Amino acid sequence: MRLIYPDYNATTPIDQQVLETMMPFFMEKFANPSSQYSSAKETRKAVEESRTRIAERLNAKNGNIIFTGGGTEANNLAIKGVAFANRDKGKHIIVSQIEHQAVLKPCKYLKNFGFKITYVPVGHDGIVDVKAIKKAIKRNTILISVMYANNVTGVIQPVEEIARIARKRGIYFHTDAVQAAGKMRIDIERLGVDLLTISGHKIYGPKGVGVLYIHKDVTIDSLIHSGGQEMKLRAGTESVASIVGLAKALEIALDNIDEEQERARKLRDTLEQGLLASIPDCYVTGHRERRLFNTSNLIIKYVEGESLLAYLNFAGICASSGSACASGSPEPSHIMLAMGVPREFANGSLRLSLGKFTTEEDIYRVIKELPEIVKKLRRLSPVERVKDGLLLETQ
Ligand SMILES: *Cc1c(COP(=O)(O)O)cnc(C)c1O
Repeated sequence: MRLIYPDYNATTPIDQQVLETMMPFFMEKFANPSSQYSSAKETRKAVEESRTRIAERLNAKNGNIIFTGGGTEANNLAIKGVAFANRDKGKHIIVSQIEHQAVLKPCKYLKNFGFKITYVPVGHDGIVDVKAIKKAIKRNTILISVMYANNVTGVIQPVEEIARIARKRGIYFHTDAVQAAGKMRIDIERLGVDLLTISGHKIYGPKGVGVLYIHKDVTIDSLIHSGGQEMKLRAGTESVASIVGLAKALEIALDNIDEEQERARKLRDTLEQGLLASIPDCYVTGHRERRLFNTSNLIIKYVEGESLLAYLNFAGICASSGSACASGSPEPSHIMLAMGVPREFANGSLRLSLGKFTTEEDIYRVIKELPEIVKKLRRLSPVERVKDGLLLETQ
């Protein structure tokens, strides 16, 4: 049975061309870029060229590209690095309620150091409330962080508008663009952001490598202390192969973005229409237009996301529920709750995210299998069905 993988927002397989570009840097060109001999010049050059090419592709003219050990690390560097370096100016940070844990957890940690965090809400459409951000700004606000595109719903956030507000008030603005990268054309100059995160493995590049763009005027501390690599912002020997791979992955994604967008959107829409037509009590979350072309997040009432995933797994289909914890008692996704999905339905969240290797055949398999699974689950464990205040079915 062919494995069906509509879970590209979780991770992507590495692109063949990316892998080939990386290969020489494992055995032949292995020199430490900080070494003094000529072979080190080559690896140093590979890192610097990757940096330049990424900067060009992101239109990052007024800042630096810093390589990190992934999206999580880049977000941690942005949040904690800016917080610690600017604590004399103020200890207030604003983030949205739908951020990834890689933003939320560093914020939570900062509370131990006296920082105050405001979590701004989103509408039912999953779009962050810009007015609430404006209202939340205080004299001691030093940083705002709002993601570019949400990993569960795919909803695209008004980052350009928020960046403008932040800049006017002299507040740094960070955006987690891990999901947007490769699926949208990111123009840092136009966006006007101060810090921006991307990750290798979400764009058909290697795992364990990420980028933090930092505007030249941003005051930021390093979190990892040793050598002077990455402009003293990220000590440790550069993962040369991964860095080269990330640069290549970004280029390939952007070179093919229009065709991929058209192809994947068509498949995503077919998938959604098929599922909505054959699963009763099911709806799509988030703004229908303003979202990534590859992502569909459904609320399927009267089922548990966890059981759904288990049954899908039996059927050879990989998907994600979007709930906070993958094992034990599932907490409903903080993103669903922030969007106002009632607690009793929030656990029935299912994220399907398509990618380069998703075929039409895959889509039809999901359209065939998923409704049957839902039917079976609803029959197996009939939850009390309360709809419009009416008790419809109890067993
Ligand atoms: C995957 C993801 C991250 C984390 O990136 P890693 O490279 O896996 O550490 C951060 N933010 C978002 C929105 C993501 O989807």
